[in-house]
Amino acid sequence: MTSFNDLGLSQPLLNALAAGKYTQPTPIQTQAIPPVIAGRDLLGIAQTGTGKTAAFALPILHRLLTNQRRPAPKTCRALILSPTRELASQIAEKFRAYGRETKLVVATVFGGVGMNPQIHALARGVDILVATPGRLIDHLQQNTLRLDQTEVVVLDEADQMLDLGFVHAIKRISQVLPKQRQSLFFSATMPQSIGQLAAGFLKEPVKVEVTPVATTAERVEQRVIFVEAERKRALLAEIMADPAITRALVFTRTKHGADRVARHLTNGGVPANAIHGNKSQSQRERALSDFKSGRIRVLVATDIAARGIDVSGVTHVINFELPNVPESYVHRIGRTARAGNAGQAISLCAQDERPYLRDIEKLTRQRIASTDRRGDAKLAAATAAEPKDSRPQQHQQQRPHGQRPNASRHGANQRHQEHRSEGQRSGGQGQPQHKRNRKPQGQRFGRADGQRQGHSQLH
Ligand code: AMP
Repeated sequence: MTSFNDLGLSQPLLNALAAGKYTQPTPIQTQAIPPVIAGRDLLGIAQTGTGKTAAFALPILHRLLTNQRRPAPKTCRALILSPTRELASQIAEKFRAYGRETKLVVATVFGGVGMNPQIHALARGVDILVATPGRLIDHLQQNTLRLDQTEVVVLDEADQMLDLGFVHAIKRISQVLPKQRQSLFFSATMPQSIGQLAAGFLKEPVKVEVTPVATTAERVEQRVIFVEAERKRALLAEIMADPAITRALVFTRTKHGADRVARHLTNGGVPANAIHGNKSQSQRERALSDFKSGRIRVLVATDIAARGIDVSGVTHVINFELPNVPESYVHRIGRTARAGNAGQAISLCAQDERPYLRDIEKLTRQRIASTDRRGDAKLAAATAAEPKDSRPQQHQQQRPHGQRPNASRHGANQRHQEHRSEGQRSGGQGQPQHKRNRKPQGQRFGRADGQRQGHSQLH
């Protein structure tokens, strides 16, 4: 079996891996590290949980180390583009951990926090910069950063980038990167639009593909419970009474829903917090650190906010609401099966979510075991006893009469919009097409994203 020693990584990196208790490279690491060390471009089809961050971070650190030079002021030697600030922070954390025995400087640039500390960090030049596209463009526009000396660039979670409306920002960033560079491109899925973006970004890439969607789903023990929408809170409280659930991620489709569920749990004696795009960066960081440290047992999240959350030991993922995009289901349940661990996923499914369930079963090519709690007297009594203010005034997911919630049947457009509406707020980034096209003439880095728009919420 391949070990990290066989992959050609330098000693300081091997030491850091040993300290981090990584013994075996994951399949994507085995396949990606040698060609990236050799300077090849790479197309990686892999989702989070496969070890893809180390698959690019380790060979990049190796190359920067073997070819040491001081970065010029306001430049970076390696640029990693990430769709969300959470993911950007986590990638930077990984670079720092793997590079702990080196003097390589890592910085992050993302929205939702002040520009000045970032300007200060960039002033002397950095080895590795992890950035979200919107804020990166801000820095390029203000000449606090230039990319003409960037040796290697990574586009991570390209499918999310597209969903969040970052495609123009990425193209603009590509234009100011040197033609002579190494490029790595990662995406969990590879529809045609992503293939086209990759083709424009990469030169004769090595292609590696790991863990197809269905395989992740197989590692997680899944069940679905049919229940009336208004009785889900009572059912969740009942589920949470199980002491085996030591760390649970609860997913809702909407930000308000996330707040409501967190409040209901807390009021019921289960300390919980919510994480979504309407929370400030510090609130999000606090919720995450409370969850990591075990101060709270439950974190309630929306799909976009959960991107990049890498918390080990999540015993359960609970889908309070099923996602309308079936791939999100796989991403959600993957949070409980990190780095080869098994986990459990419980989905609460109301009548109007049945089409979502069918889409999920189709995508993952499985039937999910189900129990039926509709008409359950205990849940009815618990719901009746709920204080009035914890009940939603209106069911958030209610669609106009007769409209089916089936994303795949409604086409990509709806899906795109829904992702974007949360992404826009989550990073203060991403902007609908019609806004992006209104950039002032002659501006080199038209403000493609990064501005908070007062858009009505789509969900
Ligand atoms: P990623 O897919 O990069 O989000 O990584 C998923 C998780 O796997 C993270 O918690 C990593 O720290 C962990 N991980 C990455 N590589 C390895 C490895 N070779 N052995 C054990 N854990 C790993």
